[in-house]
Amino acid sequence: MTTTADSAPSADSAQASFSLELSEDQRDVREWVHGFAAGVVRPAGSEWDEREETPWPIIQEAAKIGLYGFEGFAQFWADPAGLTMPIVNEELFWGDAGIGMSIMGTALAAASIFGSGTPEQMGEWIPQCFGTPDDVKVASFCVSEPDAGSDVSALRTTARYDEAKDEWVLNGQKAWATNGGIAAVHVVVASVDRELGSRGQAAFVIGPDTPGLTQGTKVSKHGIRASHTADVFLDDVRIPGRQLLGGKEKLDARLARAREGTRSKSQAAMQTFEATRPIVGAQAIGIARAAYEYALEYAKERRQFGRAIIENQSIAFALADMKMEIDCARLLVWRASWMARTGQTFTAAEGSMSKLKAGEVAVAATEKAIQILGGNGYTREFPVERWHRDAKIYTIFEGTSEIQRLVIARAISGMKIA
Ligand SMILES: Cc1cc2nc3c(=O)[nH]c(=O)nc-3n(C[C@H](O)[C@H](O)[C@H](O)COP(=O)(O)OP(=O)(O)OC[C@H]3O[C@@H](n4cnc5c(N)ncnc54)[C@H](O)[C@@H]3O)c2cc1C
Repeated sequence: MTTTADSAPSADSAQASFSLELSEDQRDVREWVHGFAAGVVRPAGSEWDEREETPWPIIQEAAKIGLYGFEGFAQFWADPAGLTMPIVNEELFWGDAGIGMSIMGTALAAASIFGSGTPEQMGEWIPQCFGTPDDVKVASFCVSEPDAGSDVSALRTTARYDEAKDEWVLNGQKAWATNGGIAAVHVVVASVDRELGSRGQAAFVIGPDTPGLTQGTKVSKHGIRASHTADVFLDDVRIPGRQLLGGKEKLDARLARAREGTRSKSQAAMQTFEATRPIVGAQAIGIARAAYEYALEYAKERRQFGRAIIENQSIAFALADMKMEIDCARLLVWRASWMARTGQTFTAAEGSMSKLKAGEVAVAATEKAIQILGGNGYTREFPVERWHRDAKIYTIFEGTSEIQRLVIARAISGMKIA
């Protein structure tokens, strides 16, 4: 999953301190989401993975308790220290990542409106992303294309302004869109001026039942199979001028700056990437922690050679490493989330760093968990093989591990590394 936006998130409480001792509010939210993850999400994980369908009844249950919806979303973002959003994501994905993504895919699309939209656009569109508890909806954030994955500057989808009608006309094909085609709201990034690469792009909101937007092939996946992923086709999709995120005046000014060669805007976009990546990292930590906890209990119970397998150093040390790596990844995620919320400058791509670490930890921890469970780990009777399949996406979407390393390397060196 990739993100873009016109501006970095605002920091209305710039001096919120960072404490590893969570506040009462943060602890309450964690306990509440954990209860839902343990009682509703975890028990349903295997079924929805096998069904490969969007778990609408579970999204609805989440909406009924206020975990899925505009108010919940606003409350999680409002934490002045920035830790509530990663905490919520970790707990939910500890329950199940496929179901978690069906719930949080919408939040990531809503975050793009939050990041780039005007206050009026936020008020109009973010509630529509979620619908209501009686009529839940999902949203989709569409950047990637068949020939533009890591290289988002290569987008071919175009947006042309029809001045006479004050309408934008979008044409192209989006690939890999989470909730693509089934969403009430699609946020689509398109090129307004291809010669400017990523600086000539803008994000547009496409509302429900807009003619010309259709779903392409639904992708059959390795993991997070409860989460819907599909191509989206845009064929002369006409939307009112006001559905350009941030508004036309801002876009025109940005294009003019890009044509003059001014650098400021790409800096702002980078700040936004850095702010969303730790949230995705927190999801990976949830999966890793699930696998670690499961493997720890299993290793204490499973006996071979007359003793619990954890009494062998190789197993005990593997678990020690898993715990250490998970805690390390979480600290990076919390640091980057706090930096984003309090408006700190990301000088070493700390957001990318956190997502890179968390994704790789999740893949390694789930792989080790399979090993610790032996043959049982390899079967669908036990959840760790599913968690391993789910974890792998975290080294691919929202920027692959290679792209994260590239971003970090460029940030620390100031050099143009290819
Ligand atoms: C399940 C799933 C859900 C997704 N959801 C969304 C979504 O909601 N919205 C959305 O817009 N996109 C989404 N994506 C797309 C995702 O962001 C892309 O798959 C990802 O950015 C990688 O692009 P690609 O698949 O085209 O791989 P490529 O860009 O073709 O990369 C292939 C390989 O080459 C490497 N590579 C490429 N360039 C370089 C370089 N310069 N240096 C070193 N290595 C390089 C990559 O790291 C990778 O290992 C989703 C993808 C999946 C699988």
